[in-house]
Amino acid sequence: MIDNMLNYADDLGPLKIIHVHEPSVGLQGIVVIDNIAIGPSIGGMRMAEDVSTEECFRLARTMTFKNAAAGLPHGGGKSVFHGDPAMPKQDKERRIRAFACALRDTVEYIFGPDMGTDEECMAWIHDEIGRATGLPRELGGIPLDEIGATGWGVRHATEVALEFCNLGIKGTRMVIQGFGAVGMHAAKFLGEQGANLVGVADSRGSIANPKGIDIDALIGLVKSGKSVIEYEDGEKQNQDALIDIECEIWIPAARPDVVHKGNVERLKTRLISPGANIAVTDEAERFLNNKGIICLPDFIANAGGVICAAMEWQGASEIVAMQTVKEKVRHNTRRVLEDSRADHCTPREAALKLAEQRVRAAMRHRRWSAF
Ligand code: NAD
Repeated sequence: MIDNMLNYADDLGPLKIIHVHEPSVGLQGIVVIDNIAIGPSIGGMRMAEDVSTEECFRLARTMTFKNAAAGLPHGGGKSVFHGDPAMPKQDKERRIRAFACALRDTVEYIFGPDMGTDEECMAWIHDEIGRATGLPRELGGIPLDEIGATGWGVRHATEVALEFCNLGIKGTRMVIQGFGAVGMHAAKFLGEQGANLVGVADSRGSIANPKGIDIDALIGLVKSGKSVIEYEDGEKQNQDALIDIECEIWIPAARPDVVHKGNVERLKTRLISPGANIAVTDEAERFLNNKGIICLPDFIANAGGVICAAMEWQGASEIVAMQTVKEKVRHNTRRVLEDSRADHCTPREAALKLAEQRVRAAMRHRRWSAF
């Protein structure tokens, strides 16, 4: 365990890595609390079949930077547990309730939704331990996936970044990988501004239509439980083909490390605006930057969800939360892109500088460096 941790530990964290095993319900979960110098950590709970401690740590670190960059009074943490999100609901509920109970006293971590989990899952956690955000409305929460808080932020980050590409949004072609809570709302909000969806993928494959995909029809299809590949007016392709589709905006909204050294050269886009966390590897990001393709840092572009969660935690209304998402994401996107131009560095380097300065400033007020 210590050896494993030392592979990625540095002076920021992680503060704690907790492995949870409850065989009676098939639960194998991990929580990483990275750094809580600014405040208790908020981060999503991910359910997937291929999660790992390392992925959980990388996501927790992303939350440390995301929360600090957004000026939230929260540190970074993340939880993951093994399983197919489509398993029978009662089995999923048992795992989630057990996970919450095992973490009853881990007060430095506040749950939120992420891939494979939603408002209802947060309601189960709230019922067990009272420490979750992204709750359903009937519990006084702001259902951030249902209203598309992250997609709303991606829309605003994208709009600001397009200015730096000397492009307007009307008629601009976009490709979206992943059509869940984030991808679907990014499509909807950008589509409302006139962007044209020309390619989309989910876990079963992709479709392309250079003339444009009807976003409302696609959302209706996916909400009825079908895959995007069942959309009829498009060419069905495999998932990998999505990277070759010519567009101005490419939005990853699914899994980590999807743009990497091996495929980055195939992208024909002007802007990458990540809804997903850690979707682009460092190497690929440097390659894009050298080619003059803007790659927004994930923790700037997709901060909408956690900003909304933090606002809910403070008791804010939905309208105020969405307005705050818009203001913070627009402000940070502009600042990071301006700083990167002025300092001749990548947008990620500019964003890391901003976030790290805030975390380190908070750490100076603490007796212990990380908590
Ligand atoms: P979700 O579970 O609602 O949707 C995920 C989508 O990705 C689904 O359409 C799924 O079919 C698709 N997918 C899975 N594997 C794929 C693959 N290999 N290729 C193409 N598509 C694939 O999840 P979500 O909440 O939309 O989250 C998506 C990403 O955004 C994750 O990386 C998550 O960490 C990140 N994120 C989410 C939020 C949020 O508010 N939900 C906030 C910030 C970041």
